[in-house]
Amino acid sequence: MAMNRRDFTLTSMAALGAVATQGTLASDTKTNRRIVLASRPIGKPTVDNFRIEAAPIPSLTDGQILLKTRYLSLDPYMRGRMNAGDSYAARVELNDVMVGGTVSEVADSRNPTFKRGDLVSSYSGWQEYQVSDGSGIRALDPRIQPPSYALGVLGMPGLTAYVGLLDIGEPKPGETVVLAASTGAVGSVVGQIAKLKGCRVIGIAGAKAKCDYAVDELGYDACISHYDDDMAEQLAALCPDGIDVYFENVGGSSWEAVMPLLNTFARVPVCGLIAHYNETELPPGPDRMSMLQGMILTKSIKMQGFIVSNYFNRLPDFVQDMSGWVAQGKVKYKEDMVTGLDKAPEAFLGLFSGNNFGKLVVKVS
Ligand code: NDP
Repeated sequence: MAMNRRDFTLTSMAALGAVATQGTLASDTKTNRRIVLASRPIGKPTVDNFRIEAAPIPSLTDGQILLKTRYLSLDPYMRGRMNAGDSYAARVELNDVMVGGTVSEVADSRNPTFKRGDLVSSYSGWQEYQVSDGSGIRALDPRIQPPSYALGVLGMPGLTAYVGLLDIGEPKPGETVVLAASTGAVGSVVGQIAKLKGCRVIGIAGAKAKCDYAVDELGYDACISHYDDDMAEQLAALCPDGIDVYFENVGGSSWEAVMPLLNTFARVPVCGLIAHYNETELPPGPDRMSMLQGMILTKSIKMQGFIVSNYFNRLPDFVQDMSGWVAQGKVKYKEDMVTGLDKAPEAFLGLFSGNNFGKLVVKVS
């Protein structure tokens, strides 16, 4: 399962945003089905924000390759790309193909670096085919099996979990680690690494089946549901010595329950706030900003946001550790595989209501 550093580094960079170029349009019998951003959502997106359309596939010029999408990764960050305003990464323009990391097969090549049949990691987006000049496209290490793992535990979400927990959370043996979205692509890896580091791990998830999976399969000490009205009381009972690390994936009611339990010198890696991605305005008062700042001050709490693309310097260690853990069965990994590109919009929307159980991936071809 080992990967060489160069392949993985470049693979991940591709998955996080490398841009491929378009060839010149020419008459061709092949057709590309693609999903574009039809309109910008206000609040929660709907399937009407997307449009599936067919377009001719450009014929290749020298140096270009034709990529056929095998697997498309669907991730919460794509919600931010649908907004008009720029965030840490550029928005998707209206009528442009939705962005996304892919595992693709080289269907045709006029580039000496790639040959037909090669599997590569790319950022082809929500479409069946893409013409690329090869920049940012890297061969997939054949030891990554199944290949779709390059979009999850051995790709961007896995690295996110690794650097967020180890570099920012700095867990120590015997400490209590709490995390939300704890069975998802990032969370499931965070919780298992925390167990490997000798911590007590309490997960927060939605459905009971997810909570059971967290304990029975992932080895967490306990997992509670954020659907329960008494979640805060349950969490307090499970954390008699307080919380040392809270890996923030969600915000909302999970953060509300965690906040009073944070210990002095607690660490809070702020990875994601999925409970808030569809909000259009701040919630009504009272304004508790000064209370939050006071707590951070008096308890010497470290809260640090992070974007995984700023941590590529950690790839060698990540590759070394994670590939070993997965190969040895120390880190288990679950995919939620949806078949068919046309299913992508509905599956993506499901991320915001907990419909996915594991890393959400679309099998495109
Ligand atoms: P997941 O696979 O965990 O899927 C999202 C899950 O979030 C859902 O299944 C659901 O789980 C939970 N969820 C959705 N809406 C809510 C809500 N309103 N309240 C509570 N829980 C909710 O996604 P990922 O692992 O890919 O991403 C997890 C987080 O990490 C996201 O916030 C994402 O944006 C962030 N992220 C950040 C990165 C960075 O560089 N900082 C990189 C990658 C991801 P459940 O059913 O258990 O409630």
